[in-house]
Amino acid sequence: MINNKKINKFAISIIEDLHKNDFQAYLVGGCVRDLLCGIEPKDFDIATNATPNEIKKIFKASRIIGKRFKLVHIYNRSDLIEVATFRSGDDRINDGSLITDQSGKILRDNIWGTLEQDTFRRDFTINALYYCPITKKIEDHNNGIKHIHEKIIVSIGDPKKRFEEDPVRSLRAIRFSNKLQFKIDKSIKEAIYEKGHLLSNISNARLFDEFCKIFLNGMAENNFNKLSSFGLNKYLILTSPEKNEFTSRLIIEALRNTDNRLKNNQSITPGFLMAAVLWPEILEKSIKKGAINLRKFFRSMDQVLRKQQQITAIPRKFHGYIKDIWVLQLKLHSRIGKQPYKTLKHPRFRAAYDFLLLREKAASNKKYLGDWWTNFQKNDDSIKKSLIKDLREKNNEESSKIFGFSAELR
Ligand code: ATP
Ligand code: MG
Repeated sequence: MINNKKINKFAISIIEDLHKNDFQAYLVGGCVRDLLCGIEPKDFDIATNATPNEIKKIFKASRIIGKRFKLVHIYNRSDLIEVATFRSGDDRINDGSLITDQSGKILRDNIWGTLEQDTFRRDFTINALYYCPITKKIEDHNNGIKHIHEKIIVSIGDPKKRFEEDPVRSLRAIRFSNKLQFKIDKSIKEAIYEKGHLLSNISNARLFDEFCKIFLNGMAENNFNKLSSFGLNKYLILTSPEKNEFTSRLIIEALRNTDNRLKNNQSITPGFLMAAVLWPEILEKSIKKGAINLRKFFRSMDQVLRKQQQITAIPRKFHGYIKDIWVLQLKLHSRIGKQPYKTLKHPRFRAAYDFLLLREKAASNKKYLGDWWTNFQKNDDSIKKSLIKDLREKNNEESSKIFGFSAELR
């Protein structure tokens, strides 16, 4: 049923080495699910009855990571494979290995168990399949294979309780249903409506990881729409699309742009998407009587980043990038003398220009400024000069004033 040629060789060698040391070991989770669905797996995870310390002894190039959930990373030159020890999920052992908070959220789970027990701590039946590439057998204790055939996402156990244990599972259900084109079981839908609000207790670091999985994996627009129908976008994005029409269009354009870039094998970064979706917040804070108030604009940048950080972390390395894109939006409006040459040389020019095009699309402007920059960058120096001169002669207000944001307030 599963073709071993599609499996990472290093992962198979790790399983063989664990077997040689008398441990059980299986490929597990997303990779088995994806292989059965005819999708190329993103990564290959392994589950074993060896404890992290035992795994570490066998593999020289390995490291134990995590506290909440201890795992071992095993490396070679090109790959990194995650190996997890079977967990029992049994909360009767009260030695601090399993800790939950008042809402039932699991804060730590490091109680080892058997394969059978391990299946019950996984989120959905389709994610609880264990494949041994040596015997080519699949261990399926929760009808996962049946549900793959039926194309449905079913919770292991009562989804309300499972979402209390870990609210991120509600985001995962939505993400998998779009990725696989599977239906979501009715009881899961009800649990999302009822328990979705618990996402506000999840750490911003974890929600940033989830943000990237949801919006930077080629399904951003569909994921956004489905999350919207469950009212969950607010746990990932500060900006409310209901603010005005421009905002909802800009967010969709930015997500669509990300999906298209991935389709065309172009680079993507969470920085660009963050800059785009947070732009309406910046405008709202800095526009006075239809024009940008510079003092407010610069002050709002840190405020808006800080507010988004309370929802999802934004790693430091992206802050400068995001602010550059915002500041360059002002610079793109000012096109006198040497300014356009300077702007063009800015290392973030390309990203800022791409974002300008998105803004114009969303504002249904006349594509006036975007076209100007398209011409300016592709033409030689004499035409560049005349483009600037034309503006001066027309005494075009746009060239000298920070203007033209009014379409973005509607
Ligand atoms: P993908 O990698 O495509 O996002 P995946 O199913 O592999 O999907 P991972 O986050 O890589 O997702 O997790 C691997 C496996 O670990 C899952 O298939 C599931 O069995 C288990 N798992 C991951 N996160 C959770 C969770 N929050 N609750 C329960 N089980 C989980
Ligand atoms: Mg995975």
